[in-house]
Amino acid sequence: MSSAYPIVEHQYDVVVVGAGGAGLRATLGLAAQGLSTACVTKLFPTRSHTVAAQGGISAALGNMGEDDWRWHMYDTVKGSDWLGDQDAIEYMCREAIPAVIELEHFGVPFSRTEDGRIYQRPFGGMTTHYGEGTAQRTCAAADRTGHAILHTLYQQSLRHDAEFFIEYFAIDLLMDDDGACRGVLAWNLDDGTLHRIRAHTTVLATGGYGRTYFSCTSAHTCTGDGNAMALRAGLPLQDMEFIQFHPTGIYGSGCLITEGSRGEGGYLTNSEGERFMERYAPNAKDLASRDVVSRAMTIEIREGRGVGENKDHIFLHLEHLGPEVIRERLPGISETARIFAGVDTSREPIPVLPTVHYNMGGVPTNFHGEVVTLAGDDPDVVVPGLMAIGECACVSVHGANRLGSNSLLDLVVFGRAAAKRCGESIEAGSAHPPLPAGSEDRILARFDRLRHARGSELTAALRLRMQRVMQNNAAVFRTGDTLDEGCRLISDVQAAFAEVRVEDRSLVWNSDLAETLELENLLGQAVVTMYSAANRTESRGAHAREDCPERDDDRWLKHTLAWFGGQGVPRIGYRPVHMYTLTNDTKVIPPRARVY
Ligand SMILES: Cc1cc2nc3c(=O)[nH]c(=O)nc-3n(C[C@H](O)[C@H](O)[C@H](O)COP(=O)(O)OP(=O)(O)OC[C@H]3O[C@@H](n4cnc5c(N)ncnc54)[C@H](O)[C@@H]3O)c2cc1C
Repeated sequence: MSSAYPIVEHQYDVVVVGAGGAGLRATLGLAAQGLSTACVTKLFPTRSHTVAAQGGISAALGNMGEDDWRWHMYDTVKGSDWLGDQDAIEYMCREAIPAVIELEHFGVPFSRTEDGRIYQRPFGGMTTHYGEGTAQRTCAAADRTGHAILHTLYQQSLRHDAEFFIEYFAIDLLMDDDGACRGVLAWNLDDGTLHRIRAHTTVLATGGYGRTYFSCTSAHTCTGDGNAMALRAGLPLQDMEFIQFHPTGIYGSGCLITEGSRGEGGYLTNSEGERFMERYAPNAKDLASRDVVSRAMTIEIREGRGVGENKDHIFLHLEHLGPEVIRERLPGISETARIFAGVDTSREPIPVLPTVHYNMGGVPTNFHGEVVTLAGDDPDVVVPGLMAIGECACVSVHGANRLGSNSLLDLVVFGRAAAKRCGESIEAGSAHPPLPAGSEDRILARFDRLRHARGSELTAALRLRMQRVMQNNAAVFRTGDTLDEGCRLISDVQAAFAEVRVEDRSLVWNSDLAETLELENLLGQAVVTMYSAANRTESRGAHAREDCPERDDDRWLKHTLAWFGGQGVPRIGYRPVHMYTLTNDTKVIPPRARVY
């Protein structure tokens, strides 16, 4: 097999797959410690999806009122509906402060207060005094925070001589017979060559899989390739049933209007002009947690109080903020609303609808970024040589529902943590053990099979089928019936993939083949998401079951793990939630009712 595909060999201390905020923060940290570091990315780094992040990054800096990282921890545990691991949440909220100051020193052009400190805005679910007041905790560079962070991290990575493999598509992990990861096999989209990139540690930072759904705020490239590589390596994915719907995707296009717009004073109304969030969340109102606001909007529409000709969406008002606030704090939003909704935000409301936005689930890791799996009775066995960070990972700091501005934080805190861990455990320039003979045969066989696939099913048609099933059957509200039907339908799409057709066999800029590889990746995750959702018979965070409306801590305060080899149904197992803290600086926050 390998003779048909000559392979170019590379050796590094560490290879990072992905150049979004997570991948670049790790790459920078690794290279700065003198580890030889390769960063493989299918997109030009500054086109990674992080560039689209608008509202900001959370950290209890207290620049605009009192704040404390312990309040941030409380909010994050509550936001997660108690499914988040409290050791990891403690780590993230405490490390947020140095990690964001570090970003400032790297050169991120944050917006400023009058006295020159980082500007911070309120975001959903962020409070002071353990739920009493409203925290201004989200550090912003206007409404282009992801853009500012991504460009700065890329410049810093280049400064430290990290090596970039740009527009290289990572196909699969190189695993040895003992279950350790030894690197990655990648396809150079520009000249068609294949590359074996060996490393002591491989860091997956491949982002989310929003594109399993028809309507989402994520880019077309968000196909969760790293998650799928983990599944093919025989590893489980964790908590995949928890999909975040953002309340304010623009009606029709799905483009995001940041929660920062409600942080700056924007509010939602129904067809009666009522600010209905006052009924659903009397204290937090429009700044309740995202799952709460998305469900409230869905109920308003279902009960006939939606706006527009078909009464099928809701209005977001920014008109009252005045042109100065919009120009200074939300310039990108007014442009997005004008282009995608034809709306002048200074005069008219924006039509919005809950839209798929974020994946709480992913590759399970500990708070160092090391991938863990369940082996025997031990739920925290580290997979040697493999790490995962960012949206593709499930640390788990977001549990059943992520708070806005905690993802950019997750990227930089755990990107930094993974780099530190590698610095402690890898000797720079040390020799690589030999790879077992034929270790990439399975990978090449799959690549070759898809390249020559001559069935009757077009990739685009299968992708649309998958997206419709996910949109209809694993939505904001779910029932046992819709999920059981969803399992059947998504398994049918998965089975139909055996008949996929790839028209173009060339190896150079073959988007047909690249999209087919991505579709197979998406399908595995869609199957795992649907079956994990059908399996969890309770409501928690973003997983809202109308037939099981209550949270059930006795039976379900545990993480779902799902293994899937590409055929049949996924195997489901469980890991306990970490109900402990790392230090005595804070206490475990016991489960209680989640009201805003
Ligand atoms: C519109 C929008 C606005 C948002 N705003 C905010 C916000 O204000 N605050 C906040 O905290 N969060 C926000 N989020 C969420 C946050 O932006 C994302 O969760 C985060 O940016 C994901 O970063 P990442 O580094 O994990 O992945 P990404 O930025 O998606 O990067 C993935 C990387 O992996 C690479 N890759 C993927 N597959 C392969 C492959 N097979 N081979 C090689 N390379 C590969 C890609 O090239 C890319 O470089 C927002 C999300 C959206 C959609």
